[in-house]
Amino acid sequence: MRKKIVAGNWKMNLDIHQGETLVQDLLKKDIVINDAIEVILFPSFIHLSTLIDLLQESEIKIGAQNNHPMESGAFTGEVSATMLASLNVNFCLVGHSERRTYNHENHEVLSKKLDALYHAGIRPIYCLGEHLEHRENGSHFELIKQQLSVLFEKSNAQVENTVVAYEPVWAIGTGKTASSAQAQEMHAYIRSLLQDKFGNEIAQNTSLLYGGSCNPKNAKELFSQKDVDGGLIGGASLNAEDFAYIISAID
Ligand code: PEP
Repeated sequence: MRKKIVAGNWKMNLDIHQGETLVQDLLKKDIVINDAIEVILFPSFIHLSTLIDLLQESEIKIGAQNNHPMESGAFTGEVSATMLASLNVNFCLVGHSERRTYNHENHEVLSKKLDALYHAGIRPIYCLGEHLEHRENGSHFELIKQQLSVLFEKSNAQVENTVVAYEPVWAIGTGKTASSAQAQEMHAYIRSLLQDKFGNEIAQNTSLLYGGSCNPKNAKELFSQKDVDGGLIGGASLNAEDFAYIISAID
């Protein structure tokens, strides 16, 4: 059975004091996390260690926002998957549209980053999504297939350990959310591609998250869709009240 997941991508926000306060505020909320649900926070690298300690008694997990494709070496300022694993980081984002755009991360780099994570035993959340122009000219399904094809090179065991997040770029940080019908349609398509490539069992067991201006008002409707298994939340994850409410929208 695939898990429901609510993940909070803090991006380059919050200093360590603000990060600790947000986690403490979340811990005060009555958040119920059972075996069928994962709640994961993705803070900056420099907060990982402190927040992992702070969450030791909690079911909330910590993930990283990025990893370098190489295991070690002369790559000043970078952090490897092996280093993240040594902190007991369980998840890592790969392919977020901001990194595809600002850091020019392409198919080849993303594939290597995935391999480094699999090797280190960290579960990737592989993000993909179309720009507005693709949706407007009708090429969005083709684009998503192209982006998803990075996973087609991976083994069944690796894909089983991967979460996919569909994040239409036109909805990220814009306040413009995909309709629940648009999200469901794309998630069903992604699941069908996984089924064609890896079979029904893997397709049915893969959690598919929606991301893009998900908030307390629209979370329930989005999460009620058959193939939407939760969300990757940016802006709304920076507010304990809103994030706790979004978690409660998962059932
Ligand atoms: C994101 O960056 O992954 C995201 C979904 O951001 P937001 O919720 O702010 O649109």
